[in-house]
Formats: sequence, C-alpha cells, structure tokens
Amino acid sequence: MKINEVKQKAENLIEVGEQARQQEVYCRGELDAASSQLSEAYDMLDYASRTNEKGETQGDVAGAQARVYMAQAHLESCERALREALETIERIKSQKYEVISQVDQYNETESGNLSSLELLRSKKFGENAAKFVTDLLRRMNAGEETKARLLNSMGIAAVAATFQAGMGTIGQDQSQNADVRSAYSGLSTTEAKIRNHNQRYYSAYINPEEMNRPMSESVVFVNENEMKTLLGDDYEPNILGFNDNVRSYINVESSYVIETTVHENLHQLSSGGIMQSEIFNVKNEQMNEGITEYLTKQTLGAEYPQSGYSLYDDNMIRIQKMTGAMGSQLVEEAYFQNKPELIQQEIDSHLGSGTFDRLSKAFDDSIRHPEAGILANNIINEYVSSKLGL
Ligand SMILES: [Zn+2]
Repeated sequence: MKINEVKQKAENLIEVGEQARQQEVYCRGELDAASSQLSEAYDMLDYASRTNEKGETQGDVAGAQARVYMAQAHLESCERALREALETIERIKSQKYEVISQVDQYNETESGNLSSLELLRSKKFGENAAKFVTDLLRRMNAGEETKARLLNSMGIAAVAATFQAGMGTIGQDQSQNADVRSAYSGLSTTEAKIRNHNQRYYSAYINPEEMNRPMSESVVFVNENEMKTLLGDDYEPNILGFNDNVRSYINVESSYVIETTVHENLHQLSSGGIMQSEIFNVKNEQMNEGITEYLTKQTLGAEYPQSGYSLYDDNMIRIQKMTGAMGSQLVEEAYFQNKPELIQQEIDSHLGSGTFDRLSKAFDDSIRHPEAGILANNIINEYVSSKLGL
C-alpha cells in the first residue's frame, strides 16, 4: 500500500460522497415538491368530482385524474432517486471505512517496523535509519490525517493522531526543551574531556574508529517524560540514563548530566563490558557498573562529585580498592575487551576457584541487601592481603 495512493483514494471518496450527499438533499427537495403536487392534484380531483343536485360532476374529472397519475409517477421517481442516493452514500461510507481499516493495518505494521528500525539504527547505518524513521513517521501521520478527514466527511468528529517515536521526535534538532538544548551545547566540552582521557589511557583496548566516533551520533539527551516513553515498563523515576549498545540516553533533568554522559559512553565503548549473558540471567552486572562508575571517576578526576550520587557508589569504591591491588590495566582490558575471565583468573588464583563467582554475586546482591556488600568487602580485603603478601 502506498500512502499517496490511499490519500488519493480517500480524496476521491470524499468528493463522490459529497456529490451523493448533495444528490440526497436535491432528491428530498424534489420529493417534498412532488408530494405537494400530488396533494394539489388530489384536491383538484376532489373539486372536479363534486356533483350538483342533478348528480353531474362540475369539473374535468379525467384531466384531474391524469394529473394525479402524473404526480404519483413523479413522486415515485423522486423516491427512487432518493433511495439510490442513500444507497450510494452507504456504499461510499463502507468504502471509506475500508480505507480507514487499511490505514490502521498499515500503521500497526509500520509501528512494529519503527521499533525494529530504531533497534537497527546501528553505528554504520545510523543516518539512513534515522531517515527511514522520519519517512515512516511522515507516512504514518499522513495515514492518520487521511483517516481523520474520512471520519470528518461522515460527520464524525475526529482529530488526527500523531505518531512519535524515539528518534523521530527526540534529539538535538527537534527538541523544544531548554534543558535538552543546553545539554547538547555542553556536549563538546564533555566530549573533549572524554576523548583526551580515552586516548591517553584506553587506546590499547578500544579501536580508533569507535573511540573517535562523534558523541553526537550516540548521545541522546531526553527529559523525564521522554525517558518514561523510552523505558516503558522499565521506567523508574529519576533514572539518570541508560545505554542500549547503540545510543546513550541521558536524563537532562538530573543534576549529573556530565557524569551520566561519561558513564553511559563507557557502556557504549565497552559494549557490555564484563557482563555475561546466560539463558536465565546476566552475570557480573553490578561489578560491571562498579567498573563503569570507577572509570567515570577516573575520567572526570577532580570534577567527579565528592559525595556519592550514584546507586553504584559502594560498588565503585569496592572496584577502586580491588583495582588498586590488581592493576588498572588488567581491569581495563577485561572491561573494554569483554574478558571477565581475566579478573576471574586473578581472583581465583589467590583465593581459590569459585571465589570470583561468589564475589560477582555479592556485588549484584549488594544493591538490595547490605549484608551482601559486607561479604564483597571481606572477599576484596582477603584478595588485597593475599596480593600484597600479608
Ligand atoms: Zn551503568
């Protein structure tokens, strides 16, 4: 289905429908006239048929009779024309509903395509995908306008719905939000800082193309409401940001836009870091967050907030301690090159097989259970002691 053809078809139906409606109005007028002609003819017949004392009719009965027949025939033809007009109106109405359901089906399919396109908006094809998304939204909205016009033409009050989706409506150029625009204008400063640090410390682990990719391609600043739309069921109030391996979404309504931009960009560059996906769960999730936040702190140096702002603060401090003994190179290589086994071998070689898994689990549990944090601290203390030969 091509949206332009649908629009054309709808316009034709609206035009033919309007003609049929005018025909109906005309027929109803004619019908009224025909009814009064008929009653006049009956009156005349009645008058002509009156008889005097001798029983003779006073007028032209046959003539009056003929007028009655004529008026009856005219009335019938008017009734037929009206019936035809009404049938045409009904037929056009059902054709209009057919077009409306085509538009609905089309937009339902395209909504699905829209989500896939947004996911597919990969690094290389990002620009094309963005254009596809824009075109798609334009076609879908044209469909909605056509639908509203068809409904209005049938006397049904309808306002065209507007499709909006992730990249279609949010981003630098589209946003009317002052916080969002100011976040974009500050991005180049943050970017220079990040790039400088990354090149200096991580160039051995990140490929240059990835490292030099402009952040404007991957960073999307959004407000709380847009965050809500993007996350759907996963939304929780005051989320600072998230990264979906394609883009980093940063909440501009938090006080930590720069910190979050650095954090999410690290997720972007490390594509999963030391996390491991298993069938039923994700391993090393909070250890990965701890490293991400630790590297955020390394990148921002003195500009990193003094008091812990992030949910990952405790795990960040644990990673910091662990890295002090382990060496940052090992942690960075494991993180940027997706090699959790490097950390695992290091920990297990000192504290025995299975210790890393227990530590990783303790990191994950510590988010909800403080006692798991104590367990993690104990393991890290043992590791540091063993490493330092204490
Ligand atoms: Zn994170």
